[in-house]
Amino acid sequence: MNVDDISQVTVLGAGNMGHGITEVAAIAGYNVTMRDIEQDLVDDGFESIKWSLEKLSEKGIVSEDAETVLDRIDTEVDLETAVSEADLVIEAAPEQMEIKKDIFSDLDEFTPEDAILASNTSSLSITEIATATSRPEQVVGMHFFNPPVKMDLVEVIYGAETTDETAEATYEFVESIDKTPIYVRKDVNGFVVNSVLGPFSDEAAWMVSEGVADIEEVDAAMVHRRGYPMGPFELSDLTGIDIGYHVRKEAGRDIPPIVQEKVDAEDLGQKTGRGYYDYEDGGGTTYEAGQGEDVDTLRIEARIINEAARLIGNDVATAEAIDTGMRLGAGFPEGPCRRGDKIGLDTVLEKLETLHDEYDHERYEPSEHLRSLVEAGTTGEEAGEGFYDYGGDDGERHYSTIQYELSDDGLLEVTLDRPERMNALNDDLMDEVVHLLDSSDLDEVRAVTFEGAGDRAFSAGADITGFAGREPYEAAITEFFEAVAEYPRPTLAKIDGFCLGGGHELALACDLRIATEDSEFGFPEINLGLLPGGGGTQRAMRMLSDARAKELVFRGEHISAERAQNWGLINRAVPESEFEETVEEFLNDLVYGAPIALQKAKRVMNVGRDQDLEAGLELESQAFGHLLATDDMQEGAAAFMEDRDPEFEGK
Ligand code: NAD
Repeated sequence: MNVDDISQVTVLGAGNMGHGITEVAAIAGYNVTMRDIEQDLVDDGFESIKWSLEKLSEKGIVSEDAETVLDRIDTEVDLETAVSEADLVIEAAPEQMEIKKDIFSDLDEFTPEDAILASNTSSLSITEIATATSRPEQVVGMHFFNPPVKMDLVEVIYGAETTDETAEATYEFVESIDKTPIYVRKDVNGFVVNSVLGPFSDEAAWMVSEGVADIEEVDAAMVHRRGYPMGPFELSDLTGIDIGYHVRKEAGRDIPPIVQEKVDAEDLGQKTGRGYYDYEDGGGTTYEAGQGEDVDTLRIEARIINEAARLIGNDVATAEAIDTGMRLGAGFPEGPCRRGDKIGLDTVLEKLETLHDEYDHERYEPSEHLRSLVEAGTTGEEAGEGFYDYGGDDGERHYSTIQYELSDDGLLEVTLDRPERMNALNDDLMDEVVHLLDSSDLDEVRAVTFEGAGDRAFSAGADITGFAGREPYEAAITEFFEAVAEYPRPTLAKIDGFCLGGGHELALACDLRIATEDSEFGFPEINLGLLPGGGGTQRAMRMLSDARAKELVFRGEHISAERAQNWGLINRAVPESEFEETVEEFLNDLVYGAPIALQKAKRVMNVGRDQDLEAGLELESQAFGHLLATDDMQEGAAAFMEDRDPEFEGK
């Protein structure tokens, strides 16, 4: 089965996950049949989809109206009817091996022989589920995260017999529904995300059990100092303390005393009203910034990084897949491999060895892969290579927060790739953009576009958690905005969604801005007791009237794309359906335009803006004189006379 052959999808289960997966596949244009064991259950699932689609469509996140998408969904109770024409079945039934095996055995009987049979299980063995069929090579794990409509990640898991063909078609299917897949190449317990997440809560629980820190201190340290979206105890309360307890029990791992205590007392977290925190009477977490200054966060992170290294060493996943998984699936501020490279893998190894000496427990046993990286001297960013290559001696630098593509025509497309944080700017992202622009070959680049990954934001600002522990606005920030503003080729910001704070400043540092009508612009910094610190105040003053610039900065409110266009802040605000076409029209002029003339024009206009008229005119006339002597000018004139399109070479 090839992804192009998939048109009919059947989802088994209309519960939490099943209805969400059905919705996502239908939004992407697939015909989906959703099956549950009783009519009431499919009806409830369908109602939930309808409610969600109406909201998404209202907000413009889904471009079709709800009815059109719903028309692609059938509901069914009879299993055979539901699956007899399916190209792909995604099972999202209760998490019990017997149920899954019964289902897969029926699927073996009723589905077309080349159908892909996928399970959304979070913790059961794909290999074992596959034994219920006579075609284990077509059985695969397709692990969505909750809720599927919002969560971008899907783990694609190989069972022992799964073929590459099956896994690849599944991977491409995930891409086709606008989600990000990662390969989990072996069927290990917890797959990637839950395996790496394990030590986050586990080590925190050991630390508190030993009395080296308290609950609030650990949560505060991990959130406020290390940038995680939630503290380990807060997270356990949300997912249920019993869940982590059973996972450890099944894996035969020791239970930290504090976890045992909570389970014995049946204080299992939010669902019982009490866990590590008290949720009754509107209660909740009580930790605050500033607590936990002395918590040894490396103890937790070293174990996380070690687990990541173990998965890489066992060929379960690549560093990229793990980092993507942890960012998108668990909201980590950066992947553990990237973080390990920053901390230094020798430091991580040393920490584990010290803990191992002290506690003599296998949970601190350094993985072979981590040891071998350190032995080879590839200890991270500072060494030029660790989990990733940083362009050390002769390698090519790996980027973790941006993606780029350079076309043969010379269009450099840069994507800000932190959709899980609405593409907020952090140190890595700014550093990587500067590195990319600095190392680009100007002979090959004619124009640059910037856009945001995902469907919500161009960039929603600066990632405040990334600033923890240092002065917020340092030279590096200025360097980033200047590198964009002064890049010697035309730059264009493609804005679809929120364009706020630092993201807004990036857009203003570009030469041109095109936005979808639903986009929003603003400088919310004032609400944080700050001001736009990446050139925003100055660029806004030069682009807009005083009154408008000050309205944006002083009030900190969002303005619509329409108003932004009326104010002259952006070049065009267009409906989503005309967005790509409009951008294309602009880019045609930039990419095929005369490169030296564009470069000179940009410079003269940028520099001249800040000078008096006389100096500006002087700059212009020098540039004009220079252009008269170029081959491009000759070509432009010849093409004009011959009534053809010029072919500029930048000479
Ligand atoms: P759920 O209880 O909300 O839904 C399961 C549905 O499956 C129920 O409506 C049930 O009636 C139905 N069902 C039972 N037998 C069936 C059968 N033979 N055919 C079709 N439907 C059947 O559970 P959920 O949270 O949606 O979880 C479903 C699966 O997804 C589980 O394997 C779970 O581990 C996995 N998962 C859950 C989450 C999560 O956070 N909830 C995340 C990722 C994966």
